[in-house]
Amino acid sequence: MNLSIDPKTVKGFLDPEEGEALYNNALLYSLKGPCLEIGSYCGKSALYIGSATKINNQILYSIDHHKGSEEQQPGEEYCDPDLIDETGKGINTLPFFLETLKRADLESSVSAIISSSLDAGENWKKPLGMVFIDGSHTLEAAMQDYYLWHEHILPGGLLAIHDVFPDPKDGGRPPHEIYLKAIESRLFQEVGMVKSLALLEKIS
Ligand code: MG
Repeated sequence: MNLSIDPKTVKGFLDPEEGEALYNNALLYSLKGPCLEIGSYCGKSALYIGSATKINNQILYSIDHHKGSEEQQPGEEYCDPDLIDETGKGINTLPFFLETLKRADLESSVSAIISSSLDAGENWKKPLGMVFIDGSHTLEAAMQDYYLWHEHILPGGLLAIHDVFPDPKDGGRPPHEIYLKAIESRLFQEVGMVKSLALLEKIS
């Protein structure tokens, strides 16, 4: 794995083994087409995926409104005080994300799309080699991400889903629900599971 900065220096919730799996799969699946991720946060996953896609002269589109998810707001369980915005009522991850891209020399390989997944997805046209879903964990948002984006994955491309916990006591259900939807649809087959990272290949 060839990363220009240490992932430990980037804020985020991605496990190093999951990051390495994203890197290795992006290296493979970006040969088919560009990659796209839902949920940029401070750029830890973009570091892994973008560093791999860069090797194939391919782009990673990274979509986030940069206002944090429900559980990351001030006063909530996963709030990082460094990220609280000037109003004190919300968070802003964009400066951290852009700094990660700059430090990692990924500014021309990762395209930051500052938008909700819905607004970006409704108008999307480009077929994708890999989609990584790591956005909001509400059931509505997770389902929407799955339905909006899975159609854009090329046959033989990859759908990666983060925070898939088969046992409810390990974490929330929505990512696991969309993982089941993808399997039940028979459009995807599981090609790997690394900790909570599910890897599903679109059947050709
Ligand atoms: Mg996650």
